Amino acid sequence: MILDNIAVFSTKIPLKKPFITSVRQTEVIEDILVRIRSDELEGWGNACVIPVITGTEKEAIVKDLEKLSKILLGDIEKDFNGIISGIYREKVSNVALAAMDIALHDIFSRKAGLPLAEFLGGSVRPFPICATISLLSPDEMAEDALKLRSEGFSLLKLKVGGNPDLDFARINSVHKAVGEKVSLFIDVNQGWNLDDALSVIKRLSDAGIVPTGIEQPLEFSNYRGMETLKAATSISIFADESANSLSMAMKIITERISSGINVKLQKYGGLRAASIITDWSELSGFKSMAGCMMESPVGVWAMAHLVASRNSFVLCDLDPLVMIRDNPVCSGSQCRAGQMEISRDHGLGISSIDDIKMIKEYWR
Ligand SMILES: [Mg+2]
Repeated sequence: MILDNIAVFSTKIPLKKPFITSVRQTEVIEDILVRIRSDELEGWGNACVIPVITGTEKEAIVKDLEKLSKILLGDIEKDFNGIISGIYREKVSNVALAAMDIALHDIFSRKAGLPLAEFLGGSVRPFPICATISLLSPDEMAEDALKLRSEGFSLLKLKVGGNPDLDFARINSVHKAVGEKVSLFIDVNQGWNLDDALSVIKRLSDAGIVPTGIEQPLEFSNYRGMETLKAATSISIFADESANSLSMAMKIITERISSGINVKLQKYGGLRAASIITDWSELSGFKSMAGCMMESPVGVWAMAHLVASRNSFVLCDLDPLVMIRDNPVCSGSQCRAGQMEISRDHGLGISSIDDIKMIKEYWR
């Protein structure tokens, strides 16, 4: 395939209410989008702009995309694998790489006449997703949980971290409000030390609360602590920030430092790297959950197609779609009643995107 045109855009998508974790608070999703074109076909990809999490500023993403664009537009015709391998060899940020990787998967699956999930070797199928509750007071979190249960969610992810007593009260309050039929998954975002984690787990057990998993309880570099915690509890411990690169993810899976890993396209550089980690995790008898950043539906749907292409994800946390006020990305995919329903249209199935501002455009 010969690419003719690549354009880079910025977008800001307001949330219904602030999203709060132990690390940050935000009221808007900010993405850099890339659109690649070849003849009548186009493909979309996204890079999230969250420097506090990814370490990459907006200006650096735009610069990286310029570098990748010039390579791709100057390229002689190659097959899909050749082009994807080529961009992974470039020294660029993982978020910019993810944007281009997703756009290339989109345009090549459109060219093949397949939904992305089928292009990745799977099938289009609906699957359940969880909804995330921001870190707030125990009463406010219980109120949010009841609302989400009434919308059809039977799995809730609670953001906690920072104060183990208050964190136990938060989890207990939500559990009491929604009852046994709603499963709870806890994301600590590095907010506990080992003693905090052991004490909260003991108190949960005493209260008869069994979370389906605990994500990133300890500081990201505390691999030894995570191994100790994993050995001390039957609750699955998932690594998120501890597995922030392909090499860290491979180490955690190979050495079985946690019970599972949170796979996100923006962390690893896109669908190619995330597929490798997912498959390696499955072949190793390790657990994978599907995650995403606070990012636009472009990236959420790309991850959703990866989920549909595999049978290995034990949990799918893809809920920016639930949190945004209006969705500017037009496609047949949707999320309703706790279910993700991806479109059968080719590629990511995106027909257009509203409210975007072009930053740069490159021609062959
Ligand atoms: Mg997390």
